Amino acid sequence: MGGRRHRLTSLKVLFSADMVSDSGLRMSPSDRKPGVVSEALRRTVWPIEFVAPEPTPVVDVCRVHEQDFVEAVLERRRPNGFGSVSASVARSLLYTCGACYGSALIALEEGVSASLTSGFHHAGPRAGRGFCTFNGLMVTCAQLFNERRVRKVAILDCDYHYGDGTQAIIDAHGLAERVLHVSFGRTYREPQQAQAYLAAVYALRGEVAAFEPDIVLYQAGADVHIDDPLGGLLTTEQMRERDRAVFAMAAELSLPITWNLAGGYQVEPDGSIPRVVDLHLNTFEEALRVWKLI
Ligand SMILES: [Zn+2]
Repeated sequence: MGGRRHRLTSLKVLFSADMVSDSGLRMSPSDRKPGVVSEALRRTVWPIEFVAPEPTPVVDVCRVHEQDFVEAVLERRRPNGFGSVSASVARSLLYTCGACYGSALIALEEGVSASLTSGFHHAGPRAGRGFCTFNGLMVTCAQLFNERRVRKVAILDCDYHYGDGTQAIIDAHGLAERVLHVSFGRTYREPQQAQAYLAAVYALRGEVAAFEPDIVLYQAGADVHIDDPLGGLLTTEQMRERDRAVFAMAAELSLPITWNLAGGYQVEPDGSIPRVVDLHLNTFEEALRVWKLI
């Protein structure tokens, strides 16, 4: 399935202003991050093409989340994953899920893509938390399965935190045979584990190859950075090595891969996030190098 039909000349990145919101919660920049990272990408000379997402139909979100929960959040009768009933967050949710799905479709065509999304993996069947409302990763899996576009998906979650919501949805829907879920946050917490972490990233190759997924969804979280107030594990260079290893694995196994931004909480006193943006741009640079676009 999928596969590149022509030589890649640009990296397609799912983004539109519909994905940006204001949760009112200063601690997490995830709501505004799509906009900030897109602006930073526009300032580069990299061959990047932005693609606007379609909003995910509510019926598709309800394939993995209970309908009552989904409707209550969208109608702002229940708090979102930021713990608020922000109208802008409610408006953005179907677009961030749509960006995740849209980028998966592009990856199936072109081999690689990205979406400027965050805030998926703590969202479980009946609730969101930890800056996550709907689980765009699992909504995407359910859509791809329902449309018979893929048989199996590998989710490589390299965010600092454990993807408990993702696992809860896999368990609730009996998807363990179709979704390989590797979440590094379950095991790796301390800087002393950095070498073991990277060794585990390299060791993914065998596990992923044996599972034979049709696509990889990669959570390239920046909160694993050693200075992150909610994380703290890898140096900047070790994060680059992580990204390079994941992308090289996908390219060498000819596995379509799409990644997203996931966490990153190094917020400056003025609310800006230059260090988080730089870490995300490093991920882009490593991907562009692996696919020989720069
Ligand atoms: Zn995280």
